[in-house]
Amino acid sequence: MAQFRTRFAPSPTGYLHIGHAASAFHVWDAAEAAGGDVILRIEDIDQTRCRPEFEEAILEDLAWLGLSWSGDIRRQSEHYPDYAEVLEALAVRHIIYRCFRTRKEILAEIDRAPHGAPAVFIGEPLSEDEEMSRIQDGQAYAWRLSLERAQNALGSAYDGLGFRESDRGWQQAEPGAFGDVVLARKDTPTSYHLATTHDDALQAVTHIVRGDDLFLSTSVHVLLQALMGWPTPTYQHHALLLDDAGKRFAKRDKSTTLRAMRKDGLTPDDIRRLAEAA
Ligand code: GLU
Repeated sequence: MAQFRTRFAPSPTGYLHIGHAASAFHVWDAAEAAGGDVILRIEDIDQTRCRPEFEEAILEDLAWLGLSWSGDIRRQSEHYPDYAEVLEALAVRHIIYRCFRTRKEILAEIDRAPHGAPAVFIGEPLSEDEEMSRIQDGQAYAWRLSLERAQNALGSAYDGLGFRESDRGWQQAEPGAFGDVVLARKDTPTSYHLATTHDDALQAVTHIVRGDDLFLSTSVHVLLQALMGWPTPTYQHHALLLDDAGKRFAKRDKSTTLRAMRKDGLTPDDIRRLAEAA
Protein backbone atom coordinates (compact mmCIF):
# COMPACT_ATOMS: atom_id res chain seq x y z
CA MET A 1 0.00 0.00 0.00
CA ALA A 2 1.19 3.49 -0.79
CA GLN A 3 2.72 5.35 2.16
CA PHE A 4 1.17 8.54 0.92
CA ARG A 5 -2.00 8.50 -1.07
CA THR A 6 -4.10 11.57 -1.45
CA ARG A 7 -7.06 12.46 -3.59
CA PHE A 8 -8.68 15.24 -5.54
CA ALA A 9 -12.45 14.99 -5.16
CA PRO A 10 -14.31 17.62 -7.17
CA SER A 11 -18.07 17.76 -7.62
CA PRO A 12 -19.05 18.22 -11.28
CA THR A 13 -21.59 20.99 -10.63
CA GLY A 14 -19.81 23.56 -12.78
CA TYR A 15 -16.51 24.35 -14.47
CA LEU A 16 -13.34 24.35 -12.39
CA HIS A 17 -12.16 27.84 -11.55
CA ILE A 18 -8.91 29.33 -10.35
CA GLY A 19 -9.76 28.41 -6.72
CA HIS A 20 -10.03 24.73 -7.70
CA ALA A 21 -6.75 24.95 -9.54
CA ALA A 22 -5.09 26.34 -6.40
CA SER A 23 -6.56 23.44 -4.42
CA ALA A 24 -5.44 20.91 -7.02
CA PHE A 25 -1.88 22.28 -6.90
CA HIS A 26 -1.86 21.84 -3.10
CA VAL A 27 -2.94 18.22 -3.56
CA TRP A 28 -0.43 17.33 -6.30
CA ASP A 29 2.44 19.24 -4.65
CA ALA A 30 1.89 17.37 -1.38
CA ALA A 31 1.94 14.04 -3.21
CA GLU A 32 5.03 14.97 -5.16
CA ALA A 33 6.90 16.13 -2.06
CA ALA A 34 6.10 12.80 -0.36
CA GLY A 35 6.67 10.62 -3.43
CA GLY A 36 3.03 9.51 -3.19
CA ASP A 37 -0.01 9.01 -5.40
CA VAL A 38 -3.03 11.11 -6.23
CA ILE A 39 -6.33 9.47 -7.06
CA LEU A 40 -9.28 11.23 -8.67
CA ARG A 41 -12.77 10.86 -7.29
CA ILE A 42 -15.85 12.43 -8.80
CA GLU A 43 -18.26 13.38 -6.02
CA ASP A 44 -21.45 13.40 -8.04
CA ILE A 45 -24.07 12.26 -5.54
CA ASP A 46 -26.18 15.36 -6.08
CA GLN A 47 -27.73 14.24 -9.34
CA THR A 48 -29.82 17.40 -9.64
CA ARG A 49 -26.73 19.61 -9.89
CA CYS A 50 -24.01 17.33 -11.33
CA ARG A 51 -23.67 16.99 -15.09
CA PRO A 52 -21.54 14.67 -17.26
CA GLU A 53 -20.26 17.60 -19.32
CA PHE A 54 -18.81 19.18 -16.18
CA GLU A 55 -17.04 15.93 -15.38
CA GLU A 56 -15.58 15.84 -18.89
CA ALA A 57 -14.46 19.43 -18.47
CA ILE A 58 -12.77 18.60 -15.15
CA LEU A 59 -10.73 15.85 -16.80
CA GLU A 60 -9.81 18.14 -19.64
CA ASP A 61 -8.82 21.02 -17.35
CA LEU A 62 -6.68 18.78 -15.12
CA ALA A 63 -4.90 17.37 -18.20
CA TRP A 64 -4.32 20.93 -19.43
CA LEU A 65 -2.75 21.82 -16.06
CA GLY A 66 -0.48 18.77 -16.45
CA LEU A 67 -1.98 16.95 -13.45
CA SER A 68 -2.45 13.19 -13.77
CA TRP A 69 -3.76 10.61 -11.34
CA SER A 70 -3.24 6.94 -10.53
CA GLY A 71 -5.73 4.18 -11.19
CA ASP A 72 -9.38 4.39 -12.15
CA ILE A 73 -11.65 7.29 -11.44
CA ARG A 74 -14.28 6.52 -8.83
CA ARG A 75 -17.69 8.02 -9.51
CA GLN A 76 -19.77 8.09 -6.35
CA SER A 77 -23.09 7.89 -8.18
CA GLU A 78 -22.09 4.39 -9.33
CA HIS A 79 -21.69 3.15 -5.77
CA TYR A 80 -24.89 3.90 -3.87
CA PRO A 81 -25.09 0.29 -2.60
CA ASP A 82 -21.77 0.82 -0.76
CA TYR A 83 -23.22 3.77 1.15
CA ALA A 84 -26.43 1.85 1.84
CA GLU A 85 -24.32 -0.85 3.51
CA VAL A 86 -22.79 1.68 5.87
CA LEU A 87 -26.23 3.06 6.70
CA GLU A 88 -27.43 -0.46 7.38
CA ALA A 89 -24.47 -1.14 9.69
CA LEU A 90 -25.19 2.06 11.64
CA ALA A 91 -28.95 1.46 11.67
CA VAL A 92 -28.68 -1.99 13.25
CA ARG A 93 -26.61 -0.38 16.01
CA HIS A 94 -29.30 2.34 16.34
CA ILE A 95 -26.70 5.05 15.81
CA ILE A 96 -28.73 6.62 13.01
CA TYR A 97 -32.43 7.35 13.01
CA ARG A 98 -35.09 8.27 10.50
CA CYS A 99 -35.97 11.95 10.50
CA PHE A 100 -39.28 12.82 8.86
CA ARG A 101 -39.18 16.54 9.48
CA THR A 102 -39.30 19.03 6.68
CA ARG A 103 -36.63 21.66 6.16
CA LYS A 104 -39.11 24.28 7.40
CA GLU A 105 -39.79 22.41 10.62
CA ILE A 106 -36.08 22.00 11.25
CA LEU A 107 -35.38 25.70 10.76
CA ALA A 108 -38.23 26.57 13.10
CA GLU A 109 -36.83 24.18 15.69
CA ILE A 110 -33.37 25.72 15.45
CA ASP A 111 -34.96 29.17 15.84
CA ARG A 112 -36.68 28.08 19.02
CA ALA A 113 -33.38 27.02 20.62
CA PRO A 114 -32.54 29.11 23.70
CA HIS A 115 -30.54 32.23 23.00
CA GLY A 116 -26.83 31.44 22.91
CA ALA A 117 -27.34 27.76 22.14
CA PRO A 118 -25.62 26.58 18.95
CA ALA A 119 -27.83 26.76 15.87
CA VAL A 120 -27.77 23.05 15.15
CA PHE A 121 -30.48 20.45 14.97
CA ILE A 122 -30.64 17.62 17.48
CA GLY A 123 -33.58 15.41 16.68
CA GLU A 124 -35.39 12.68 18.51
CA PRO A 125 -35.63 9.11 17.24
CA LEU A 126 -39.26 7.94 16.99
CA SER A 127 -40.56 4.61 18.17
CA GLU A 128 -40.46 1.80 15.63
CA ASP A 129 -44.26 1.75 15.38
CA GLU A 130 -44.40 5.47 14.71
CA GLU A 131 -41.71 5.12 12.04
CA MET A 132 -43.53 2.26 10.35
CA SER A 133 -46.83 4.07 10.26
CA ARG A 134 -45.20 7.15 8.71
CA ILE A 135 -43.43 5.01 6.12
CA GLN A 136 -46.74 3.33 5.28
CA ASP A 137 -48.20 6.81 4.93
CA GLY A 138 -45.58 7.44 2.25
CA GLN A 139 -43.71 10.10 4.24
CA ALA A 140 -40.13 10.66 3.11
CA TYR A 141 -37.31 10.63 5.62
CA ALA A 142 -33.62 11.39 5.98
CA TRP A 143 -31.18 9.33 8.04
CA ARG A 144 -29.50 11.34 10.77
CA LEU A 145 -26.62 10.40 13.01
CA SER A 146 -27.63 10.59 16.65
CA LEU A 147 -24.85 12.34 18.52
CA GLU A 148 -26.11 10.99 21.79
CA ARG A 149 -26.06 7.41 20.56
CA ALA A 150 -22.69 7.87 18.86
CA GLN A 151 -21.33 9.14 22.14
CA ASN A 152 -22.78 6.15 24.01
CA ALA A 153 -21.34 3.76 21.43
CA LEU A 154 -17.85 5.20 21.70
CA GLY A 155 -17.76 5.80 25.46
CA SER A 156 -14.71 7.69 26.67
CA ALA A 157 -13.12 7.52 23.19
CA TYR A 158 -15.67 10.12 22.08
CA ASP A 159 -13.98 12.87 24.10
CA GLY A 160 -10.57 11.98 22.70
CA LEU A 161 -11.59 12.21 19.03
CA GLY A 162 -9.27 14.25 16.89
CA PHE A 163 -6.94 14.19 13.93
CA ARG A 164 -3.45 15.16 12.91
CA GLU A 165 -3.12 18.28 10.78
CA SER A 166 0.15 17.94 8.88
CA ASP A 167 1.62 21.34 9.81
CA ARG A 168 -0.31 22.12 13.00
CA GLY A 169 -0.22 18.84 14.88
CA TRP A 170 -3.07 17.31 16.84
CA GLN A 171 -6.52 18.89 16.52
CA GLN A 172 -9.27 18.08 18.95
CA ALA A 173 -12.46 17.18 17.04
CA GLU A 174 -15.78 18.89 17.67
CA PRO A 175 -18.12 16.15 16.48
CA GLY A 176 -21.16 18.01 17.81
CA ALA A 177 -20.52 21.12 15.73
CA PHE A 178 -23.25 20.28 13.21
CA GLY A 179 -25.70 18.57 15.56
CA ASP A 180 -27.28 15.34 14.31
CA VAL A 181 -25.94 15.41 10.76
CA VAL A 182 -27.81 13.98 7.80
CA LEU A 183 -26.15 10.86 6.40
CA ALA A 184 -28.74 10.19 3.70
CA ARG A 185 -31.19 12.71 2.35
CA LYS A 186 -34.79 12.29 1.38
CA ASP A 187 -33.88 12.50 -2.30
CA THR A 188 -30.28 11.22 -2.27
CA PRO A 189 -29.32 7.90 -0.69
CA THR A 190 -26.13 9.30 0.87
CA SER A 191 -24.68 12.59 2.03
CA TYR A 192 -21.29 14.15 1.36
CA HIS A 193 -20.06 13.23 4.86
CA LEU A 194 -20.90 9.57 4.47
CA ALA A 195 -19.76 9.09 0.88
CA THR A 196 -16.48 10.92 1.20
CA THR A 197 -15.49 9.26 4.48
CA HIS A 198 -16.43 5.81 3.21
CA ASP A 199 -14.48 6.31 0.00
CA ASP A 200 -11.39 7.66 1.73
CA ALA A 201 -11.30 4.47 3.80
CA LEU A 202 -12.10 2.16 0.88
CA GLN A 203 -9.50 3.82 -1.32
CA ALA A 204 -6.83 3.73 1.42
CA VAL A 205 -6.31 7.47 1.36
CA THR A 206 -3.58 8.33 3.88
CA HIS A 207 -3.53 12.13 3.48
CA ILE A 208 -6.38 14.49 2.76
CA VAL A 209 -5.50 17.88 1.34
CA ARG A 210 -8.47 20.22 0.93
CA GLY A 211 -9.71 23.74 1.60
CA ASP A 212 -10.16 25.02 5.13
CA ASP A 213 -13.87 25.51 4.46
CA LEU A 214 -14.08 21.78 5.23
CA PHE A 215 -12.10 21.96 8.48
CA LEU A 216 -15.17 21.61 10.70
CA SER A 217 -16.59 18.80 8.55
CA THR A 218 -13.48 16.80 9.40
CA SER A 219 -14.80 16.44 12.95
CA VAL A 220 -17.86 14.64 11.59
CA HIS A 221 -15.63 12.48 9.41
CA VAL A 222 -13.45 11.53 12.38
CA LEU A 223 -16.57 10.53 14.30
CA LEU A 224 -17.73 8.32 11.41
CA GLN A 225 -14.27 6.76 11.15
CA ALA A 226 -14.35 5.89 14.85
CA LEU A 227 -17.85 4.43 14.60
CA MET A 228 -17.01 2.35 11.52
CA GLY A 229 -13.50 1.31 12.57
CA TRP A 230 -11.92 3.14 9.63
CA PRO A 231 -8.46 4.72 9.93
CA THR A 232 -8.19 8.48 10.29
CA PRO A 233 -5.92 9.96 7.61
CA THR A 234 -3.64 12.94 8.18
CA TYR A 235 -5.24 16.22 7.08
CA GLN A 236 -3.97 19.38 5.50
CA HIS A 237 -6.60 22.11 5.25
CA HIS A 238 -5.23 24.89 3.08
CA ALA A 239 -6.38 28.52 3.00
CA LEU A 240 -8.84 29.21 0.22
CA LEU A 241 -7.81 31.39 -2.65
CA LEU A 242 -9.72 34.68 -2.48
CA ASP A 243 -10.51 37.21 -5.18
CA ASP A 244 -9.48 40.87 -5.07
CA ALA A 245 -12.53 41.68 -2.97
CA GLY A 246 -11.53 39.02 -0.45
CA LYS A 247 -14.33 36.66 -1.50
CA ARG A 248 -14.12 32.97 -2.42
CA PHE A 249 -14.27 32.12 -6.10
CA ALA A 250 -17.57 30.57 -7.09
CA LYS A 251 -18.46 28.29 -9.97
CA ARG A 252 -20.94 30.89 -11.21
CA ASP A 253 -18.16 33.48 -11.83
CA LYS A 254 -17.67 32.67 -15.48
CA SER A 255 -14.56 34.79 -16.01
CA THR A 256 -12.43 32.83 -13.55
CA THR A 257 -13.17 29.36 -14.88
CA LEU A 258 -10.08 27.62 -16.18
CA ARG A 259 -11.64 27.30 -19.61
CA ALA A 260 -12.36 31.02 -19.82
CA MET A 261 -8.82 31.80 -18.76
CA ARG A 262 -7.44 29.32 -21.28
CA LYS A 263 -9.52 30.95 -24.00
CA ASP A 264 -8.10 34.31 -22.94
CA GLY A 265 -4.65 32.93 -23.76
CA LEU A 266 -3.39 32.15 -20.27
CA THR A 267 -1.04 29.17 -19.92
CA PRO A 268 -0.92 26.56 -17.14
CA ASP A 269 2.15 28.38 -15.79
CA ASP A 270 0.14 31.60 -15.60
CA ILE A 271 -2.57 29.74 -13.67
CA ARG A 272 -0.01 28.43 -11.21
CA ARG A 273 1.43 31.90 -10.69
CA LEU A 274 -2.03 33.34 -10.09
CA ALA A 275 -2.91 30.50 -7.73
CA GLU A 276 0.25 31.06 -5.74
CA ALA A 277 0.15 34.83 -5.76
CA ALA A 278 -2.78 35.12 -3.39
N1 GLU B 1 -16.43 17.28 -3.32
C1 GLU B 1 -16.04 18.31 -2.42
C2 GLU B 1 -16.04 19.64 -3.14
O1 GLU B 1 -16.01 19.68 -4.36
C3 GLU B 1 -14.66 18.12 -1.83
C4 GLU B 1 -14.67 17.10 -0.82
C5 GLU B 1 -13.39 16.84 -0.06
O2 GLU B 1 -12.28 17.20 -0.52
O3 GLU B 1 -13.51 16.20 0.97
O4 GLU B 1 -16.08 20.65 -2.47
